[in-house]
Amino acid sequence: MASIFTKIINGEIPCYKIAETDKFFAFLDINPNAKGHTLCIPKQEVDKLFDLDDDIYLELMAFSKSVAHAIKKAVPCKRIGMTVIGLEVPHAHVHLIPLNTMEDARFLSKEKLTDEQFKEIASAIKAHL
Ligand code: AMP
Repeated sequence: MASIFTKIINGEIPCYKIAETDKFFAFLDINPNAKGHTLCIPKQEVDKLFDLDDDIYLELMAFSKSVAHAIKKAVPCKRIGMTVIGLEVPHAHVHLIPLNTMEDARFLSKEKLTDEQFKEIASAIKAHL
């Protein structure tokens, strides 16, 4: 069965899209640690990040880096953190999180955003890509 992220890539489940290439996709995390929290994924459905082929892994890092720079320009924060977890969704993904305090990296306190706020953040980030 296709992962929830494959369904997002295929447009079967809606998302706040940030960027797409032939191999990669970026969209806002629906339950963000902080405003601008973004997920970068390979279109190829592989569960664990470190099981990706080296070339796709390295290209995903380069894709994530370009998205991270756009988030940093769009969202006031000290820096963009990168985290890999994968306990919830078995489709490799990188979390890019605007950080101001260590709390923002802890996946415990979550930011509640309206549909309007998600849309605003997504377009602000996209404007810097
Ligand atoms: P993890 O697999 O532990 O790295 O966590 C998966 C992440 O995906 C969580 O931060 C979720 O909030 C996020 N997530 C799950 N479903 C969706 C969705 N439909 N759209 C956007 N983000 C999602």
